[in-house]
Amino acid sequence: MINFELSDAISKTRERMHMMAEHMMRPIAREYDEREHEKPWDFLNTAWSLSKNATVGPNAETKQQGEDAPAKKKERGPSELNLRTCVAVEELSWGDGGLYLSIPGPGLGGAAVLAAGTPEQKKRFLSRFKGDKPVWSAMAITEPSCGSDSAKIQATAVRDGDHWVLNGTKIFCTSGLMAGDPKNSQGFIVVWATVDRSAGRAGIKSFIVDAGTPGMTVAKCEDKLGIRASDTATLIFEDCRIPVDHILGSPEVPKTSEGFKGVMATFDATRPIVAASAIGIGRAAVDLIREELEKQGIPIRYGVAPHQLTAIERDFMDMETQLQAARLLTWRAAWMMDHGQVNSLEASMAKAKAGIVVTQITQKAVEMLGPLGYSREILLEKWMRDAKINDIFEGTQQINLMIIARRILGYSSKELS
Ligand SMILES: Cc1cc2nc3c(=O)[nH]c(=O)nc-3n(C[C@H](O)[C@H](O)[C@H](O)COP(=O)(O)OP(=O)(O)OC[C@H]3O[C@@H](n4cnc5c(N)ncnc54)[C@H](O)[C@@H]3O)c2cc1C
Repeated sequence: MINFELSDAISKTRERMHMMAEHMMRPIAREYDEREHEKPWDFLNTAWSLSKNATVGPNAETKQQGEDAPAKKKERGPSELNLRTCVAVEELSWGDGGLYLSIPGPGLGGAAVLAAGTPEQKKRFLSRFKGDKPVWSAMAITEPSCGSDSAKIQATAVRDGDHWVLNGTKIFCTSGLMAGDPKNSQGFIVVWATVDRSAGRAGIKSFIVDAGTPGMTVAKCEDKLGIRASDTATLIFEDCRIPVDHILGSPEVPKTSEGFKGVMATFDATRPIVAASAIGIGRAAVDLIREELEKQGIPIRYGVAPHQLTAIERDFMDMETQLQAARLLTWRAAWMMDHGQVNSLEASMAKAKAGIVVTQITQKAVEMLGPLGYSREILLEKWMRDAKINDIFEGTQQINLMIIARRILGYSSKELS
């Protein structure tokens, strides 16, 4: 059964991440929102040195998973990697959603390696996150003509002797600049491409492209509404040659679309993480409103009959309830993954709920504070801008609702699209 009490290790992680969020991220959040495309190197280097050798923290167990022998894993019992990551990400995003996305570490690319890589690949690629220099990874799925329907990917990977040759364009790649440019990193980008267009979904595979591989260019970085401290890059692949063993999982093209499920499994790990980030931003807004109401001597009277509550009290309690509902869905999805259970439905539920909740909470919070909420004097208007992305990337609200409907009603993607 699920236990709602967090382990000591996770509670310690939460405390450490909260310290980092409060003392290192909040003070620079406004500055790096306004200086989009500039990197907070002091913060990034410190965050890296704090997390790279950590025995607790979002990076720690990911590296361990890449290194452990099976016997040692058995000894440690069920992993807490996903739940611990969600708890850590909520705290960091409470500090700042854009800065959190810029922190070096295994990130989305690492999650893809864990979900689709062989044991040898996990060990090899994740061991990069141990050195002295910060290392980033990123995941490149979206293309100019496909985002929501990732089965329509146009980028190609063609086998040529000991190499795969990649061609295509990827857009909106989070941390694509940091992970792809060798000036910044020894990192890598996980790129989705088809090895056989005629095979449809079954032909889509994911590939590791090391930073600085000839043929991969970081073409531009987007100017954005929110999460402006995080870079979002366009990557162009022109006859980009990568070693043959840089394909994640098997190179075989199965007869059915089963193979596509392997790459899609990445989302089962990453959607709860995005949900956790949304919850962190939403919690920042709720905490701020609570403080403002206290300052103005407006109490929240819990336990009073609903018809006696003021509109502000009702709104505030609703914000808290929605946030808690999103958090519980997120923790369930993460816990299931830690226990080896299939969580695709729950991962989409968590992502859809948290994405809409954070959007509504931050808008309501701005509304409650009126002109102060809209002003750049405090961070609330920024959180409202940062919130929206959680309802877009890793599957939009509509796409996640459709996945939920398919899974509950037993429809295939052909029957309900
Ligand atoms: C800041 C930022 C960072 C990102 N980071 C990454 C990243 O790291 N890696 C990556 O690969 N991608 C990334 N993305 C891309 C993101 O995942 C896509 O934008 C998203 O999946 C939507 O795809 P699309 O842009 O093609 O929109 P579309 O698929 O064209 O969708 C447009 C609208 O139509 C709706 N829609 C589409 N199909 C349906 C349907 N069948 N039923 C109902 N409604 C539908 C969508 O919900 C959406 O509202 C990022 C995007 C942004 C803005």
